[in-house]
Amino acid sequence: MTHRVSTLSRRTVLEGALKGSVLLALPVLQFACGKKEVVCSDTAGLTADEIKMRKTLDYSDTTADPAKTCSNCQLYKPAAADQCGSCTLLKGTIHPKGFCKSWAAKAT
Ligand code: SF4
Repeated sequence: MTHRVSTLSRRTVLEGALKGSVLLALPVLQFACGKKEVVCSDTAGLTADEIKMRKTLDYSDTTADPAKTCSNCQLYKPAAADQCGSCTLLKGTIHPKGFCKSWAAKAT
């Protein structure tokens, strides 16, 4: 009968636990600092056609062009600060820093 010798050292185990603790604490720290990331990509409650429309227009919570965001699109309806807004074209929540193919500059 042979016994298997563990190759995990105490240091390896402690380092792993520390890294895990830091990763678990990040969302809490972000929230405590008021930097909780706003996520507006939840499609719960939307119909299949509404979800398809978001995909067809490549809606994203981010933009490749900082000059073109939902917040400066004429179809965007803002909500309170740091909250998801809405759009007259796409159903569901819309990120102020998001973008889709139907972006249209706000009239000035
Ligand atoms: Fe954002 Fe597109 Fe709606 Fe304009 S049309 S607010 S870019 S989702």
